[in-house]
Order: sequence, then structure tokens, then C-alpha cells
Amino acid sequence: MGRRAKREQRKAERRAAEEAEAARIAEQNASYFATWRAEILAQTCPTCGRRAVAQYFYGLPHFTPELNALLDDGLIVLGGCDYAPDEPLWVCRSCKRTWGRADDLVQLIRVRRSLQHPA
Ligand SMILES: [Zn+2]
Repeated sequence: MGRRAKREQRKAERRAAEEAEAARIAEQNASYFATWRAEILAQTCPTCGRRAVAQYFYGLPHFTPELNALLDDGLIVLGGCDYAPDEPLWVCRSCKRTWGRADDLVQLIRVRRSLQHPA
């Protein structure tokens, strides 16, 4: 195999590896956001008992299509870039009650992960 052909082959291999990595991240994101959505939908307001609950999201969001879908569906409410440990985690869209604490580890992981999602 000539030098040029080898170079072309390496390029093709690199491209295939990049595509495989992008597919892996996309699949991971889809399952991650599906789990997150299901967790929010499972919440019930402790005051009015409705399932119209949204989760506050703190930090700088990375607006992926999955996050935008949660925002469009009213399941995520942006809480601002400044994160304070005593901020609420949940809000009822019906009676506006807030509860929970945003410093729950899971939420912090989400904030971090959202920053790592590819555009
Ligand atoms: Zn309520």
C-alpha cells in the first residue's frame, strides 16, 4: 500500500472512531435525559397533590435538543447561574409551592454533566 493510501486509510479510521464516539455520546444522552424526564414526571406536589412539577436547574445550561425539550414541556425551570445551597429543587407549576434542596448531589452532577454535552 502506498503512502498516500495509508494516509487515506488512517483518516478514514479516525473519522469512523469520531463517528462512533459521537453515536455513543448521543445514546448516553438520550438515556440520561429519558431517566431525568421520568424522575420529574414521577414527582407529586406535597401541597396540592398534582403531578405538575418542574425541577429547578442551576448553573449555565448547555441548550441541547434534549434540555430544550424539557424546558419546552415545563419540566425544567432555569434557576439562574448563581447556585446557592439552600435554593429549592422542585416547584409546583399549579400552586407554585417550592420544596427540596438543590444541593442534592444528583442535581450537582446534572449541572456538571449538562456542561459536558456536545453541541
Ligand atoms: Zn402544588
